[in-house]
Amino acid sequence: MSKFASYKIDLENLTENSQIFDFELNSEFFKMNNDVEIEQGNVKVIVVAQKKIQNFVLKISLEGYVIVPCDRCLDDMQQLISYSETLTVKFGENFEEDANTVIIPESDGYIDLACFFYQMIVVNIPIKHVHQSGTCNITMEKQLEKYSVQSLDRQDIISCGEKNDKKIDPRWEKLKEIK
Ligand SMILES: [Zn+2]
Repeated sequence: MSKFASYKIDLENLTENSQIFDFELNSEFFKMNNDVEIEQGNVKVIVVAQKKIQNFVLKISLEGYVIVPCDRCLDDMQQLISYSETLTVKFGENFEEDANTVIIPESDGYIDLACFFYQMIVVNIPIKHVHQSGTCNITMEKQLEKYSVQSLDRQDIISCGEKNDKKIDPRWEKLKEIK
């Protein structure tokens, strides 16, 4: 048995009748993606999958929340996630990803949606995400001001066909010193 839950859909078993798959993305899922920002959360995913003449259509809806550090005080905050997207999947030679179309090697016969779910969550987190006014951790906020932390650009979104090599946000090094 694999160490992590499966987020795969067997394309070869899909039919012209819609089939519904549900997944739960929890802390195990976020740890699997080695994310330094999102370590916890609970997002329910429903995928309505259907085989068409030339391709497969996956209607994906995500609802839930993730826990991310507030940009102002770095304390945890809850970020709501509510998103839907339609993915068109085709069989081809090699893995390719272009806007909402994904080419899957026919020899694979399945699509692993873990990375796609993850991408959808990441794009749903606003670039600036902060606690509601007045609810930040004031001690932390003052400490951070002292270190004059510059706001950093969000890391580029990883393509699902690539290896996931992430840089550590330098703020985390600073945070370790503070804590
Ligand atoms: Zn805050």
